[in-house]
Amino acid sequence: MSATIRYSIIIPMFNEEAVIQETYRRIKKVMGTTGETYELLFVNDGSTDHCAEMIEEYSHWDESVRLIDLSRNFGHQVAITAGMDYAQGDAIVIIDADLQDPPELVLEMIEEWKVGFEVVYAKRVKRRGESLFKKWTASLFYRVLRYSTDISIPVDTGDFRLIDRKVCDQLKRLPEKNRFVRGLVSWVGFRQKAIEYERDERLAGETKYPLKRMIKLSLDGITSFSYKPLKLAGYLGGVLSAAGFLYLMYVLYLAIFTDSVVKGWASMIGITLTFNGFVLVMLGILGEYVGRIYDETKGRPLYIVQEVYGGQPQVVQEKR
Ligand code: UDP
Ligand code: MG
Repeated sequence: MSATIRYSIIIPMFNEEAVIQETYRRIKKVMGTTGETYELLFVNDGSTDHCAEMIEEYSHWDESVRLIDLSRNFGHQVAITAGMDYAQGDAIVIIDADLQDPPELVLEMIEEWKVGFEVVYAKRVKRRGESLFKKWTASLFYRVLRYSTDISIPVDTGDFRLIDRKVCDQLKRLPEKNRFVRGLVSWVGFRQKAIEYERDERLAGETKYPLKRMIKLSLDGITSFSYKPLKLAGYLGGVLSAAGFLYLMYVLYLAIFTDSVVKGWASMIGITLTFNGFVLVMLGILGEYVGRIYDETKGRPLYIVQEVYGGQPQVVQEKR
């Protein structure tokens, strides 16, 4: 492929052998219609199935295919970041490997990019084939995130988006470890444009985002962009101690000025449990932040590349 690559398509994959062939075919077909140069950057995030071998095979005869083979599973957000570090295009598209994000939409993104938008993100107006639980929790998460942060992170928007080279270069300067890429893209700024789409069902295979990972992603999103949870302790603590003080005054008043005393250790236990629970929850929130500070201070690289297949040799700065 010529030295100048117009589009880079980043496709993170983790055990996607059931879909990857079709994904390759569909994206290839769409990108072929642009009549411009492109590269397909598959990032293998430590898959234990055969998807990486399949892509490696493609890279032998299709020079637009590159495989970045990470040394183990580093997680979706890190896989995307690795893709950005290797991307050479003027515009970079991030798309899931399971065809939940229709590749055909990339053409629309490209049009908006040509008009002058540096970020074109795809907003889900409908999600098909996902459980009610996932839809509700996702919807709740995006709204909590919007409430808790000062920068505006668009709701109901995943990582499916096109970013300009300028945006990609700026993102590469952000060294943080527990990454929430879509938030970072908002943080970087530039002219952003939403296009709406209906999210399809996964073509085959199962979601690689079980509840545990969804919680991790949500906490990364919120803690990366807001201190509000930490302030919560201050606010609630203030309200509760004020209420406690007033109640104490009332009890003292009864004891000193009347014949009755307040009885009941049951209420004591109730209050103790509630308050201790509250304190522990706040400690947990504090722990989320402290743990992330710890991750930053260790200064480990964000990911390790085992091997790169296909494409042109290139100097890549993995400063993280
Ligand atoms: N993925 C990844 N590493 C992981 C988990 C997921 O690279 O540890 C990829 C996965 O192969 C897919 C994309 O990230 O291309 C989104 O994952 P998935 O479709 O399972 O998430 P969902 O759409 O269910 O939220
Ligand atoms: Mg999916």
